[in-house]
Amino acid sequence: MAEITLKSLAHSYSPNPTGPEDYAIREMDHVWHKGGAYALLGPSGCGKSTMLNIISGLVRPSDGDILFDGKRVNELSPTERNIAQVFQFPVIYDSMTVYENLAFPLKNAGKSKEQIKKKVAEVAAILELEPVLSKKAKGLTADEKQKISMGRGLVRDDVSAILFDEPLTVIDPQLKWKLRRKLKQIHEQFDLTMVYVTHDQLEASTFADKIAVMYGGVIVQFGTPRELFESPNHTFVGYFIGSPGMNLVEVSRCDGGVCFDDMVVPLSDELLKHIDNKGSKNLKIGIRPEFVNVVDQPADDTYECQVRDVEDLGTYKIIALKLGNQILKVRVDEDHQLNGDVVHVGFPRQWLKLYVDEFLIEEQAE
Ligand code: ADP
Ligand code: MG
Repeated sequence: MAEITLKSLAHSYSPNPTGPEDYAIREMDHVWHKGGAYALLGPSGCGKSTMLNIISGLVRPSDGDILFDGKRVNELSPTERNIAQVFQFPVIYDSMTVYENLAFPLKNAGKSKEQIKKKVAEVAAILELEPVLSKKAKGLTADEKQKISMGRGLVRDDVSAILFDEPLTVIDPQLKWKLRRKLKQIHEQFDLTMVYVTHDQLEASTFADKIAVMYGGVIVQFGTPRELFESPNHTFVGYFIGSPGMNLVEVSRCDGGVCFDDMVVPLSDELLKHIDNKGSKNLKIGIRPEFVNVVDQPADDTYECQVRDVEDLGTYKIIALKLGNQILKVRVDEDHQLNGDVVHVGFPRQWLKLYVDEFLIEEQAE
């Protein structure tokens, strides 16, 4: 296992990039620590596969360095880097049996027959491939083939890291859940560094201890599922994580705070100083639907809203409220009763976030 460091990394597929939009990876630094179970989460086209392929050596980055345990590996081939990579679609040998497929990476690595037998049995048991071990891969279902593909990535425990690029795309939903649990189990059992690419937040949070959220070619936040939920570092994280995502409202600087429509949201002097120092007009406030307080009676720090829609989701409700010209989504308990069409909302200071140029600005802890 290795610690993988990406230093001032950038990549453009164009030979003559002219601006940031020509880059699939925009300049970034990142460290994947040894033994971690990580997810790389982001929408299609944000650069996830490019990053994995740069780590494994399939793609040479245009700028920056890749370090394994502090040593530069830019010039090393995928084999020399000793990375196992599992792709979206199965990569297996159809004419070989399942056993031979699983044994292949071990054979190549020069393992003894005994070692191979033991490891193949172990991985086949976890992936429930035992009943088909002696069958040719050719006749198997898409699910089984992808399990073999994953197994081929998992048989070697001496690799620097295992990279999964949306490996469960072709898998049936029921089995998907099961395999995700298994991967987690394998991680715990074998103490491997794993990076798991997905565009599904649920998949990311069930697998990973820590999630890197990627957007527009950079990692905009690297944190635990809880950190991403409670303190999104970028508006995209707020929007992408959570269901529904964070309420984000464009605001402008005004006396004592920020404003939208005819509402004033007071902010601390410290935050206002940040805004003034940055001098940007791109200001937003954000609050998650779970953290908005809904009350019947107005108070000094509440705002009057009209109820537009109530969606009952069984154990909770999502209420759409109109505040000024904005629509605010609020999540309340299933037994929350609304008295009429007008409610008042409060934004607990701790959960009201300020974004300047899409990035979170926080007060310094005392
Ligand atoms: P993701 O895996 O997050 O969907 P990719 O890393 O595949 O994203 O792609 C990132 C960006 O790079 C996209 O704009 C994509 O069109 C572009 N891209 C990916 N592969 C190539 C390639 N081989 N040649 C040119 N452009 C590419
Ligand atoms: Mg991809």
